[in-house]
Amino acid sequence: MRDVIIIGSGPAGWTAALYAARANLAPLLFEGPEPGGQLTTTTEVENFPGFPKGIQGPELMQLFAEQAKRFGTEAVSENVSALTINPDGTFTVTAGKTDYQSKTVILSMGATARRLGLPSEKALYGKGVSACATCDGFFFKDKNVIIVGGGDSAMEEAQVLSQVSPDVILIHRRDEFRAQKATLDKVLSKKNVRFLYNTRVLDILGEQSVNGILLETSAVSPKQEVKTLPALITKFGGQKRSHNQWVLPRNGVFVAIGLVPNTQKFTGLDLDSHGYVKRFEEKDGNGVYRYFTKTNVDGVFTAGDVHDARYKQAVTAAGFGAMAAIDVERWLAEHE
Ligand code: NAP
Repeated sequence: MRDVIIIGSGPAGWTAALYAARANLAPLLFEGPEPGGQLTTTTEVENFPGFPKGIQGPELMQLFAEQAKRFGTEAVSENVSALTINPDGTFTVTAGKTDYQSKTVILSMGATARRLGLPSEKALYGKGVSACATCDGFFFKDKNVIIVGGGDSAMEEAQVLSQVSPDVILIHRRDEFRAQKATLDKVLSKKNVRFLYNTRVLDILGEQSVNGILLETSAVSPKQEVKTLPALITKFGGQKRSHNQWVLPRNGVFVAIGLVPNTQKFTGLDLDSHGYVKRFEEKDGNGVYRYFTKTNVDGVFTAGDVHDARYKQAVTAAGFGAMAAIDVERWLAEHE
C-alpha cells in the first residue's frame, strides 16, 4: 500500500512528487500519455523563474523529473485507465494490467489544448502555430498574427499579443463572444486588434513557416462595418480564393479554442461545467487554509491545469503541486 500515487507528469505532478518524496512518502508517479505535459510541446520557456537565459520546455521537464527522482520518486511510464475507491477508503489505481493500491491520490493530469484538427496546424506547430501567447508571443514581435477563438482565453491571448504585434486579428466562428464582457471590452479598446466574425480557419498555409491562412466567411456580420465579402476581404488585406473562401497573409496563428482538462477517464469526481476538477477548500477558525487542494473524494487531491482554468502557467502548476503534497502529508498524519 502506497502513501501517495500521483497521476500526471507535468510541473504539478513532478513538484508534488518532489515534495512528497522529501516528506518520506515514497511517491509513485504515473507519467501518462504525454510525459512532461504541455511544456514538452513548446520550445523556449522564458518565464520560468531561475532560468534567466530561458530553457527549452522538454529540458525543463527533464530537470523536474531528475530532481523528484533524486529523492526517491518512482515513475511508471503508463497511462492510468481507472481510479477506484476501495470499501475501506483507500484507492486502486489501474494502469495497463496492474492494480496499484494507495492511501491518497494526487490528480495532476493537466489539460490539453483543443486543436482545430487541421493537418497543417499539426505540421506547422512550433513553426508559427502556437497555443500560448504568454509562452511564444515574444517570437512574433513585429509580425502580424491571428488568434482563433471567442472565449476568455482568446481575449487573454489578444491582450498579450497586442503588446508585441502591430496587427492582431481575432477570428471567431460566430459574431457573439463567449468571453466575459470586461475582458472583451479591454480587447475591443486595443487599436491594433481587429475582429473577423462568422469566419472559420480552413487551412494554414506555408512549408517551413506560416505565411497565410485560408478562411471561410459564412456571412458578413453587421458588426463588421462593411457590407459585402469583397469589401471585407479588401479591408483585411486578403485575396479571394473561391465563393466565400479567401486567403489572409499572416505569420502567426494562435489557437485559443479552449483547453480540455484530462478528466475523461475518471468517474466519481465533482467536475465543473467545463470538465475541470472542483476543489473543496477547508479553513480553520482563523480563516487559514487547512486544505487547499482537496477534491470531493476524501483522500484525493488535485494540482495544476486539471483543476485550474485561470492561471495555467508552469510555475503556478508547480506551486499547486507543492500544495497538494503538503495537503497529503497533513491528511495522512490526521488519518494515522
Ligand atoms: P471557451 O470559453 O470554451 O471558449 C472557446 C471558444 O473557442 C468559443 O468561443 C468557441 O466558439 C471557440 N471554439 C471552440 N471550438 C472551436 C473550433 N473547433 N473552431 C473555432 N472556434 C472554436 O474556452 P476558453 O476561452 O479556453 O475558456 C475556458 C474556461 O476558462 C471558461 O470558463 C473561461 O471563463 C475560463 N477562463 C478564464 C479566464 C480568466 O478568468 N481570466 C481566462 C481564460 C479562461 P463558440 O463560442 O462558437 O462555441
